[in-house]
Amino acid sequence: MRIHKSTSVFLFLTLTMVLTAALVGCAQAPQSAEDERENAVTQEAQEAQEAQQPSSTISDEVPQSQGAPAIDSRAAEFEVDPARTQWTFEAPQTKTVYLTFDDGPSANTQPVLDILDQYGIKATFFVTGINPDYLSMISECYRRGHTIGMHTYSHDYEQVYASVDAYWQDLGQIADVVRQQIGYVPCFIRFPGGSSNTISANYTLGIMSELAQEVVNEGYQYYDWDASCGDGAVHTADELVEATKADTAYGYQSIVFLMHDGAEKQTTVEALPRIIEYFQSEGYTFAPIDRSTCVPHHGIGN
Ligand SMILES: [Zn+2]
Repeated sequence: MRIHKSTSVFLFLTLTMVLTAALVGCAQAPQSAEDERENAVTQEAQEAQEAQQPSSTISDEVPQSQGAPAIDSRAAEFEVDPARTQWTFEAPQTKTVYLTFDDGPSANTQPVLDILDQYGIKATFFVTGINPDYLSMISECYRRGHTIGMHTYSHDYEQVYASVDAYWQDLGQIADVVRQQIGYVPCFIRFPGGSSNTISANYTLGIMSELAQEVVNEGYQYYDWDASCGDGAVHTADELVEATKADTAYGYQSIVFLMHDGAEKQTTVEALPRIIEYFQSEGYTFAPIDRSTCVPHHGIGN
């Protein structure tokens, strides 16, 4: 009887801890895919602008990729491997924020890297192939200790979500680019629009449900986000800082934080130091995504 009582108490406590961890941890209410949706609207404008940008804006100091780069120790840990099926869904012990930058590399990637270096912070870049002149920045991000994840090659929703095969073709294209830049294909991905996007329903009904399962079966893991600076739409730096505070007011233990280093995101660069200092003042430390990062998944809407 006594044993049963103890067992019940133990089970109750365990359940309470798990539920608490889920609530305070990374299993938070799904964010809307609004940021990414709004971003898609500005995609055309971005591309038009990018077409006018000279390719010479990359610093001469940035090493250009020449042939297959040397594979470092992170390769063994981060390379996609269908045999590795363990992922973390528990919040870390200490308050941690994972800054993530989507839609680059672009002309804004270099200033983002310099700011991160100034603060001694490592982050994660979910890269695309939409700015061919800046692809060498992928290896530069990696060389400086940041994690490289794959976002999409084209970032064209109509194309990417035309079919399951079309998605894999697009992912294969960005995988080829990333392999050229860092020597291997990483397991970390982020769906265009996040897994909760409903834009994909315009092209293929149910595709997100299917892809969410398939990518994991193939050894990838998709990382949505817990909070955002709101730069999916056009905002001033002041507004981005305020949006950051509003979206993180719950004080989550683990925050995978969505930002963009795409071609039109100068105000994100401008706001970045204040966003970093805000998280520091709230007691957060910064980390790049790795296989031990608490995986945030949105609710799938298509
Ligand atoms: Zn994106």
